[in-house]
Amino acid sequence: MDGYIMALDQGTTSSRCILFDHSGRICSLAQQEFTQYFPKPGWVEHNALEIWSSQYAVATEAMARIAVTAKDIAAIGITNQRETTILWDRRTGMPVCSAIVWQCRRTAERIDRLTPEEKEMIREKTGLVPDAYFSASKIEWILDNVKGVRERALQGEICFGNVDAWLIYKLTGGQTHVTDYTNASRTMLFNIHTKQWDEELLKLFHIPADILPKVQPSGKIFGYTDESVLGGRIPIAAAAGDQQAALFGQCCFGPGEVKNTYGTGGFLLMNTGTRAITSAHGLLTTMAAVCEGEPVQYALEGSVFVAGSIIQWLRDEMRMIKTAAQSEEYADEAFDTAGVYIVPAFTGMGAPYWNPYARGTVVGITRGCKKEHFIRAALESIAFQSMDVIHAMEEDAGVPLNGLKVDGGASSNNFLVKFQADLIGKEVSRPKCIETTALGAAYLAGLTVGYWKDRDEVRANWQLGRKFVPDMQEEERAELLRGWKRAVHCAIGWADDRE
Ligand code: ADP
Repeated sequence: MDGYIMALDQGTTSSRCILFDHSGRICSLAQQEFTQYFPKPGWVEHNALEIWSSQYAVATEAMARIAVTAKDIAAIGITNQRETTILWDRRTGMPVCSAIVWQCRRTAERIDRLTPEEKEMIREKTGLVPDAYFSASKIEWILDNVKGVRERALQGEICFGNVDAWLIYKLTGGQTHVTDYTNASRTMLFNIHTKQWDEELLKLFHIPADILPKVQPSGKIFGYTDESVLGGRIPIAAAAGDQQAALFGQCCFGPGEVKNTYGTGGFLLMNTGTRAITSAHGLLTTMAAVCEGEPVQYALEGSVFVAGSIIQWLRDEMRMIKTAAQSEEYADEAFDTAGVYIVPAFTGMGAPYWNPYARGTVVGITRGCKKEHFIRAALESIAFQSMDVIHAMEEDAGVPLNGLKVDGGASSNNFLVKFQADLIGKEVSRPKCIETTALGAAYLAGLTVGYWKDRDEVRANWQLGRKFVPDMQEEERAELLRGWKRAVHCAIGWADDRE
């Protein structure tokens, strides 16, 4: 099969489109950042129409850059920021309000009100730690707080979707309302064992079943683009949440294979094959991406809410750097952090702590602390948080990890990845192509339409970019770890003393 596979990568901070060829090479790329709204402390919103318009714009731009038309595109694969919740009018396609972003904490108190029995039921059915992070309480909030929406929903006029379902609806000209297993498994309404929307959970969150999309495997034809959108009927042959797509893009196809993504947040996933393993250490059990006809696969996941976004914060709010890449130069200039630790709990803490009320904390500041130290501490905080998750995963898996594959925007930072290798005392491999999220969506779509023959053909494309070998002394590592634990203790103490 000729042509390209188009990956639409709708991330938290930007919309991207990449055209890949058979070798998994990036032939064209277009990207647009879009607006982040912070209407109240701890609240995060996006404009769903801007998500669509930016995604559409980069799709046409990527095609225009290498002068291809719809007939040159064998299939589209979608990957998206997960959990982010959009409700729209089924007929007009107009969102009923802003998209509530995964990071948003507005429903934290709602989750607190769940009884221990309800929390246990959620864990068992969904594999998730009950939290405001997931879609369920966000949907309920919209139904309860946006005027008239519950009534319209009861009359079948409203669709709910995560960003994948929203984009598919728009791409198909409003014809299709569908999602995939990986996205559904992040709503906290989907039973990952029976692979069905769960009536008991829908009742618990007062959500009418009519608003839900149909669920199917990640690699399957979801529909075709409306001719008026990209100039032809292109099969939309895959959709997968960003982290599951990255796991696929890193070719972690078998049990025990692990990747860590440093994007807006940090996400460590381990493929656990056909077994849904329950974590004893605050990790989530989630569905991994597979194509139609394959047995379902599960993954263990550690989610860290703030990773690369602390660098964005240094750039946009603190105005300490002009570009994200500059953070590496500053970190290299500072020999250490001068004893400073930053815990970037801007929207609470995820795995393994799960504290929605923790907030960003800086400790250890002395008169000698310079901007360089502060920036270095910010980068180190990304690696510390991943280290906590890696330790939790090793405990759950019962075996030490034997290395780590990394990707995501912030993995281009050599200081960060080397520091990560030092902290965990293991080799860290960064592939040549760190756009593994988009690549994973492309692979799923390409396998579905026969652009690639099988997983072996896909695996042959994985190429090492750089390997980072640890050389930190054990004593120094232990000292750093102790400091980090004390800092986390402070961030959580701040939350615990809030009354
Ligand atoms: P997402 O898909 O979640 O939008 P990306 O994988 O595109 O995220 O990564 C973007 C994030 O990576 C941003 O938060 C940005 O601050 C961070 N980032 C990008 N380049 C660097 C860099 N060189 N050093 C540190 N952080 C970086």
